[in-house]
Amino acid sequence: MENTLNSEPLMSRELETPTFLMAQEQLDSVAHKLNLDPGVHERLRYPKKALIVSVPIKLDNGETRTFMGYRVQHDMALGPSKGGIRYYPDIDLGEVSAMAMWMTWKCSLMNLPFGGAKGGIRCNPEIMSQRELEKITRRYTTEILSIIGPEKDIPAPDMYTNEQTMAWIMDTYSNYFGYAIPGVVTGKPVGLGGSLGRVEATGRGVTFTTLKALEKVKLNTNNPSVAVQGFGNVGAVTARYLYQAGCKIIAISDIHGGIYNPKGINIEDLFKYVKEHKTVTGFPETENISNQEILELECDILAPCAVGNVLTEKNADKIKCKILAEGANGPTTPAADKIIYEKNIFIIPSILANAGGVTVSYFEWVQDIQRLFWSEDEVVNKLQVLITKAFDDVYNLSIAKNVDTRTAAMMLGVGRVAEAKRLRGLYP
Ligand code: NAD
Repeated sequence: MENTLNSEPLMSRELETPTFLMAQEQLDSVAHKLNLDPGVHERLRYPKKALIVSVPIKLDNGETRTFMGYRVQHDMALGPSKGGIRYYPDIDLGEVSAMAMWMTWKCSLMNLPFGGAKGGIRCNPEIMSQRELEKITRRYTTEILSIIGPEKDIPAPDMYTNEQTMAWIMDTYSNYFGYAIPGVVTGKPVGLGGSLGRVEATGRGVTFTTLKALEKVKLNTNNPSVAVQGFGNVGAVTARYLYQAGCKIIAISDIHGGIYNPKGINIEDLFKYVKEHKTVTGFPETENISNQEILELECDILAPCAVGNVLTEKNADKIKCKILAEGANGPTTPAADKIIYEKNIFIIPSILANAGGVTVSYFEWVQDIQRLFWSEDEVVNKLQVLITKAFDDVYNLSIAKNVDTRTAAMMLGVGRVAEAKRLRGLYP
C-alpha cells in the first residue's frame, strides 16, 4: 500500500471541488507575495470547522424528505465568524467552504473584528412553500445550534434567504436558551433588532465602489451603460442606486433570463413589474437576452450579481466592459481573471465590491449588543467611510506593488489574518 500518510493533505479530499480549489489557488498566489509563514499559510488553506447535518422535514404533501445542510467556519483569529446562509440546489461542502474562506478575507479587508463562515442547505427554494421553508430553517438551526451564537458564529442572509429566514433562526435559537438573543443573526427585520439600511447595504456598497472606480477609469460619458446579472437583493439594489446616480441600465437578468434595451431601462418601473410578475422577463420595450449574452454585452460597467463561476476561460475574452463590479461571490475563475486583467478591465473584486453587506451586518451586531440603535443616515455614512477607505487601500496597494486589484485586496485581507495568527501562535 502506498504511504498515504506522507502524501498531499489527507483532510482535503472532501473539499476537492472546483470552487474550493479555486479559493485555495487564490490564497496560494498571494502567499508568496506576502512571504507568508508556511505554517500560517497551511492553516489558512482549510476551514477551522465544517459541520454537515441532515435536515429532515415533512413536506406539505405529507412526504418526509431529508436535505443536506452545511455550516463552515473558516477562521476565528480576529473574532466570531460571520457569513450568510444560502438555499440552493447545487451547493456542496467545497463551495460553502470556499465562500467561508472568502468571508475571512472580506471581513479582514474591511477591518471588521470577524472571521469568515458560510452555510447552506441543498434544496430548491423556488418550489418550496413558506411553511416548508420555515420548517427547514428551524430544523437546520437546531442542528447547527451548538456552533453558532453572538460570540461564536453569526449567520446572515445569502441567496434565497432573507429577513424572514433570519427571524426564524433568531426565534429558534432564542427559544432554546429561553430569552431573546437578537445578536445571533444579522439581516433581521428592523422590528426584531435589525439595522436600518441592512437590506440595501450590499447593493449600496457595490454602488459606492463602482462610483469610486469611475473616478479612476475615465470614460467619455456622463451616463455610463450598465449590465447587471441577477435581480435579487444585490442586483436589484445595485441597479436602483446606479440608476439614481445617473447610469443607464441597459440590461438586467434573473434565473429565468434577461432583458435588454440599449436606450436604458426605467428601474423604478421594473421594480413594480417584478412585484407583479416575479421575473424581469417580458418587461415592456425590451428584447430577450440570455444570462450568457448579458455578460458579453458592449457596456461600461458589468455587474455579475447572481451566482459564482460565470466568467471563465470560455467567455472571458468576449467581455467588453471597462469596469467589472463583482456583486456576486466568486463570479470570476482564476483563468478568466488573467484574461480580463490583460484586457485592461478595472476589476472591483467581490471581497471589496460586495463587502457592504457584512459591514452593515457588523453595525447590526454592535447595535444589538449595545441595545442602542442608529439612524439610517449614520449607517450609510459609516458604510461609505469604511468601504471608501478599503477601496483606496486596495487601489493604492495595487499601484505600489504593481499588481491587479484582486491580488491587492487579497494581500490586505490575507495579510491581516496571517498577522493575527502569527501573534496568537499555534495552540497547544
Ligand atoms: P437573491 O436570492 O436575493 O437573488 C439572486 C438573483 O440571482 C435572483 O434574481 C435569481 O433569479 C438570480 N439567479 C439565481 N440563479 C441564477 C443563475 N444560475 N443565473 C442567473 N441568475 C440567477 O441573492 P442575493 O442575496 O442577491 O445574492 C446574489 C449574490 O451576491 C450571491 O453570489 C451572494 O453570495 C452574493 N452576496 C450577497 C450578499 C447579501 O447581502 N445578500 C452579500 C454579499 C454577497
